[in-house]
Amino acid sequence: MCFYRAFLVLIVRLLLFRTMTTPLPDRAARVELLLLDVDGVLTDGSILYADDGAELKRFHVRDGSGLKLWRLAGKRAAIVSGRKSVAVERRAAELGIAPVLQGRDDKLAAFAEVLAATGLTAGQVCAVGDDLPDLPVLLRAGVAVAVADASPEVREAADYVTMVPGGRGAVRDAIEWLLKLRGEWERLVGEGKR
Ligand SMILES: [Mg+2]
Repeated sequence: MCFYRAFLVLIVRLLLFRTMTTPLPDRAARVELLLLDVDGVLTDGSILYADDGAELKRFHVRDGSGLKLWRLAGKRAAIVSGRKSVAVERRAAELGIAPVLQGRDDKLAAFAEVLAATGLTAGQVCAVGDDLPDLPVLLRAGVAVAVADASPEVREAADYVTMVPGGRGAVRDAIEWLLKLRGEWERLVGEGKR
């Protein structure tokens, strides 16, 4: 397990070398789309089952306010999730997130579909993840963000690690970091107050 982790970290570092050749502020300025994982990013990773078999999710209200600001900036957000639930469809609809790709084990293939659907390049995406299945996408996206309680390999691959864990406002944290890096935060907060 230790060897496996060390090997993975080495691969991550080699792949990171490529993106590190472009300064982070330049990569951040190009971002048009926030690509979100659900379990462990928009939620704390808990999977709750109701008696009728429905899967329940608990979202954080501040992620919603962050995403509103993100949309105010004229930017988009999309979801790629390994699992599938009606609750995610509902939350995504509330927040204007589209496309929403659920039940996708191969996140890289789903990422390619999102790019095809939006006409964007990987460099125009900021991906937010928490666990190993997110790594291939994080390594290809222009900007990579890990939630505070992400696995070590994911944190290693990230340009930014949020201050709060998944499901506790991590997406809002990521958006604030990105908008501040782009120099847009103050103006958008002012506009949001009106
Ligand atoms: Mg996850």
